[in-house]
Amino acid sequence: MKIQFLGAARTVTGSCYVIEACGRRFAVDCGMHQGNKAVEERNSEVKSYRPQDLDFILVTHAHIDHSGLLPLMVSHGFKQPIYCTRATRELLGIMLLDSAHIQEMEALNEAKKFKRRGLGEPPQPLYTQEDAQRTDALFQAVDYHTQLEPAAGIRATFYDAGHILGSASLRLEICEEGKTTSLLFSGDIGRPGALIVRESETPPSADYIFMESTYGDRDHKNESTSIGELAEAIAFSYAKKEKIIIPAFAVERTQEILCCLHQLASEGKLPDDLPIFVDSPLAIRASEIFSRHRDLFDEKTRSILASGDDIFALPNLRYTLTAAESQAINAMTGPAIVISASGMCNAGRIKHHLRHNIWKPGASIVFVGYQAVGTVGRKLVEQAKKITLFGEDIAVAAKIFTINGFSGHAGQSQLLAWLAPLLKPHTNLVLVHGEENAQHTLAEVIKARFGVDATIPEYLEEMTLHGADITASVTHSAEAYPRVNWNFLASEVERKWQIFRDQLKDIEHKPWVDQKELEESMGKMEFYLARLIARL
Ligand SMILES: [Zn+2]
Ligand SMILES: [Zn+2]
Repeated sequence: MKIQFLGAARTVTGSCYVIEACGRRFAVDCGMHQGNKAVEERNSEVKSYRPQDLDFILVTHAHIDHSGLLPLMVSHGFKQPIYCTRATRELLGIMLLDSAHIQEMEALNEAKKFKRRGLGEPPQPLYTQEDAQRTDALFQAVDYHTQLEPAAGIRATFYDAGHILGSASLRLEICEEGKTTSLLFSGDIGRPGALIVRESETPPSADYIFMESTYGDRDHKNESTSIGELAEAIAFSYAKKEKIIIPAFAVERTQEILCCLHQLASEGKLPDDLPIFVDSPLAIRASEIFSRHRDLFDEKTRSILASGDDIFALPNLRYTLTAAESQAINAMTGPAIVISASGMCNAGRIKHHLRHNIWKPGASIVFVGYQAVGTVGRKLVEQAKKITLFGEDIAVAAKIFTINGFSGHAGQSQLLAWLAPLLKPHTNLVLVHGEENAQHTLAEVIKARFGVDATIPEYLEEMTLHGADITASVTHSAEAYPRVNWNFLASEVERKWQIFRDQLKDIEHKPWVDQKELEESMGKMEFYLARLIARL
């Protein structure tokens, strides 16, 4: 049996593991790579996925970093079943369509830029809404704990991962040559005590455990501190009559923030005249799906609902559906809370809200979820002084709040608690879905605590699994991490600089107006060089 890591290997996004067993080839998750340009280019590497050769796909949960490339597979010939839990299936019905809409809008904007600059063929969208609709027809919902046999010799069972509505850990039993090998994919593991959904459960152990490690290097602050920090952000911008912008995933995180605001309102910590906007057409539909799956909520949430209190309702709350309504929020003066997606500020309406508010000293930007490397959100969390949005450099003057206590992911100690009952003497532990530093820290803690060595595969790595052992591992480092040729780049800049120096005496004889134009170009070059040096 073979497994290849096509994403979420030494990174957080792009979860996709392709397995070859029992003469079949199938994937666990098929997520979008999110981050800077270099990371997102992996989305176009369709040939690594070989969509037409996939017999089926199993999806752990609806987040785009686990599901966002499904329509791309379909647009390249994948026509086989996609299995996931019932709630995941419903959420994916709206999320993939939304993702396709974002792809189409961004391609349209790029096409306009190409036209204005007189450039050639603009890039096509990664996939379209039609591809998302065709994907929708392939879903087959499976209940938690119900064993599924997608192909002879391969059995799959979903267990609650406590991360978002419908989220699952996936356990596979693969029977080859009369021997059964078990593989457990943790999916994203929820934070115990999170609002709304139930806590993660402990699945039966397995020969191989593929475990997420997003927060492998740290624990979260507790939730009451986080609610206090949210109240502080609100009070700060309310006093300055500016907006509080909360980038949040439309699914789960938005609903959790509404729960928190509901709690603040009941404690008298939310000003009565403060408008709240959920500016995401997806969020309103997601909230409807939440209402249909109350059986998946934790006991506390169910008892609040049973008492007749609607956790998602607030007197000043408005959902904005159309683009015109969204723009009207920015035209409005005075304080307001704006919850919008995407959660990592790399796409969607949130980018417009940032452009209108981030340069205002009284505004607040409140991060409540994980920010992947390379995203605008990550730059802001790391205190960038300037960010680039829609090709424009914008100064960051707003106050940035990072509140980790709302995280949908387990922190380090919670990951260890999830893992502890699953370890057997011969368990092979593989860490995925984490940045390298977090993974190495977690691996060290696991070694010290349990005496178990963890494997940390790299992007595109292929492992051969034989019974309970990893018998071979092949990396494709040159392809996975193409080397940046710094010497070549630097010598090119030096060569051109010398050409410029050689012509300097001629420049001084040019008309003054022409010299001023050249001076402006030179100023821009100097600015970009200074910015490059500042980033080193
Ligand atoms: Zn997730
Ligand atoms: Zn994830």
